[in-house]
Amino acid sequence: MSAESVSVEGVIRTLPETPMVDVMAGASRIEQRVLDHGFVALVDCMPRMAPEGKTADYSIVQAARVSYGEGTKQVSEDRGLVRYLLRHRHTTPFEMVEFKFHVAMPIFVARQWIRHRTANVNEYSARYSIVPDRFYRPTPESIRAQSQSNRQGGDGCVDAGTAEEFLALLERAEGLYKDYMQFTEKGVARELARTALPVSVYTEWYWKCDLHNLFHFLALRMDPHAQHEIRVYADAMYQLVKPIVPISCEAFEDYRLGSMQLTRLEVEAIRTGAALATTNKREIAEYEEKRERLGLAKPR
Ligand SMILES: Cc1cc2nc3c(=O)[nH]c(=O)nc-3n(C[C@H](O)[C@H](O)[C@H](O)COP(=O)(O)OP(=O)(O)OC[C@H]3O[C@@H](n4cnc5c(N)ncnc54)[C@H](O)[C@@H]3O)c2cc1C
Repeated sequence: MSAESVSVEGVIRTLPETPMVDVMAGASRIEQRVLDHGFVALVDCMPRMAPEGKTADYSIVQAARVSYGEGTKQVSEDRGLVRYLLRHRHTTPFEMVEFKFHVAMPIFVARQWIRHRTANVNEYSARYSIVPDRFYRPTPESIRAQSQSNRQGGDGCVDAGTAEEFLALLERAEGLYKDYMQFTEKGVARELARTALPVSVYTEWYWKCDLHNLFHFLALRMDPHAQHEIRVYADAMYQLVKPIVPISCEAFEDYRLGSMQLTRLEVEAIRTGAALATTNKREIAEYEEKRERLGLAKPR
């Protein structure tokens, strides 16, 4: 069926060649629970409609074809083009897709998250409204010990006694909520009263981001080096967007998430079989990790 154009007083409305279907299958919200009281919900996306038989990936292809020409319109060709674009970091077509999420997360997670500046954010106002009584408490088994190799990470678990004491400390911190409420009732402004609450308290926001920048966020926050408490949100978001842009996600896994970057020194060392030309211990350890992943023998 060919496209039909309707012109009324100079305004041309083109009707789709094939019927358009909702990429969220009619849902107003698709939610995943995260941590103890958190969630991440996909509430909207652009494009919201795609031609029947296609996914929202189609709008990436549509934008790219402005630069590459029409070519063939087969789905298999679309996949090849999306993969080419992602592989070659031709990023702007991926900005044509956007996702809007409603998220509830502890404030210490929100602090890491807000560093991603390329999203649009609107957060719950604790100046305007009372903060809800919701605090993050890890399960006893997930109370990590300080990593000895990475100053910024956790590794393994603390012993049961320490875990119990730590949970008691969190409970005492949560007890400040009662005082917070008391002082708001006594007339202290909510914008000041909230300063008594710990960073384990939950906040909420709407977060909208295009696919290019979402992939950047996900690559950083799904990485094992990211803190567990933000990683679980990134994992949940990825599961929400994957059915909507499956071709882009497959390319993201192949060319970004599961890929590896080699430095010039590493390329040289692999090519010549010599040791890495540095004395930096961290760099050498990273090189050894990469060699192991590549199935190469330990360097001489
Ligand atoms: C494991 C991990 C550990 C971290 N540790 C720390 C830490 O100890 N301390 C700390 O402060 N931060 C830390 N961060 C945060 C990190 O430094 C970045 O701020 C965060 O990951 C956001 O990355 P980004 O700036 O690339 O993302 P975005 O803000 O989403 O930006 C995306 C890209 O847009 C461009 N861009 C955006 N805004 C600008 C701008 N104003 N000027 C120029 N280019 C711009 C850049 O190319 C950028 O890469 C950590 C992050 C991770 C993942």
